[in-house]
Amino acid sequence: MNMIIMGPPGCGKGTQANGIVQNLGVVHISTGDMLRAAVKSGSELGQRVEAVMAAGELVSDDLMMDIIKERLRQRDANDGWLLDGFPRTVEQAEGLMALLDEIDQSVGAVVSLEVPNEEIVQRLSGRLTCRECGFVTSRQSVGADDPNRCPQCGAEALYQRDDDREETVRNRLEVYQTKTYPAAATLGDRYRLERIDGVGEPAEIAQRIRGVLE
Ligand code: ADP
Ligand code: ZN
Repeated sequence: MNMIIMGPPGCGKGTQANGIVQNLGVVHISTGDMLRAAVKSGSELGQRVEAVMAAGELVSDDLMMDIIKERLRQRDANDGWLLDGFPRTVEQAEGLMALLDEIDQSVGAVVSLEVPNEEIVQRLSGRLTCRECGFVTSRQSVGADDPNRCPQCGAEALYQRDDDREETVRNRLEVYQTKTYPAAATLGDRYRLERIDGVGEPAEIAQRIRGVLE
């Protein structure tokens, strides 16, 4: 089963994606994680995308299509995948549909998590990410004693992503609304699109997603 998960930054997409891949045993393809790994490694790709990402802008459609083509060609992508963070524009959605037709694959469901803007700005300005293991938490939950310590791997490596600063968050939201939200409808013309209310406890939202996937 192939799936796509979409939603504004901070909608809980990463958390829900992890749950879905565990339940369904499919591979998790997160373009945000792939790009952050490239930046961290200092590769040519990483150097090309670093400034664009820090500003909350989108990496070009051509580059993203190349990345996704290469990723979907790998063998582990034959037994089901969950795309997270891609497609993010109508052009990417159209490119993906053409690519899938070419390699004779389809998409079983597109899950769109919907969360109001004000809630997003609040959530993201407190978000912390672990540089070592990628774990995501918040200032409120780590407390003041050891504010940089990762609760998952124990490294002193929690930090605020450049693109989680408030001005950048507002820019990412605007980019989401003008470019990504319409891409969900494009996918919905061809594939099953399920819009899910993303406000509530993570377990509750996971339940809503399971409900529509059954
Ligand atoms: P978010 O937390 O906003 O969902 P991601 O971790 O998915 O963010 O992606 C972080 C950044 O990586 C984006 O703001 C963008 O700059 C870049 N990026 C990731 N996926 C794509 C894509 N499909 N097209 C263009 N840029 C992308
Ligand atoms: Zn960690």
